[in-house]
Amino acid sequence: MITWQDIQQCYQRTLRELQALVPTDKWQTQPQLIQLTQHKTKYGMADIKGVVYINQAFIGSEADGLLDVTIRHELAHLCVGIDQGHNAHFKSCARLFKANFGQHLKTQTQAINEAIGFKYKLFARLENQQEILFKTVHRKHAKYLNYKPKFFSYLTIKGQKVLSFRYE
Ligand SMILES: [Zn+2]
Repeated sequence: MITWQDIQQCYQRTLRELQALVPTDKWQTQPQLIQLTQHKTKYGMADIKGVVYINQAFIGSEADGLLDVTIRHELAHLCVGIDQGHNAHFKSCARLFKANFGQHLKTQTQAINEAIGFKYKLFARLENQQEILFKTVHRKHAKYLNYKPKFFSYLTIKGQKVLSFRYE
């Protein structure tokens, strides 16, 4: 299951790989940071300030292949410059960056397309006092609304006991 931390790690790893491929001074826009977006149709976006946006629908999904390709696609926009759109120059960079939205990602694409329409964010407070975005959902579920951890029976996320859930 993908977490916000996984998205940040995938971004850092991919950025290092692609900056080894095309040296930093050759990039039209310097990548600055990654953020989440609630966009209703797009998997990701990039802007002229060098910010890469990834749809929050990836959180809680298993679409790791689609996430990887989306990050590569957005970084290709920064490399050639946003103003190039999806022209031939962009496409050759996207090929070099292995940003290939192919048939192999069909199942993940369907899952994310469905998740993008989700209404609520479900947050979980963990034993280590951290609160994380667990997933985005269509409706509120009693399982989480009435959740109370017991001594022998509780949910865990990444090995941490969940203390409480809340919807937003
Ligand atoms: Zn694009």
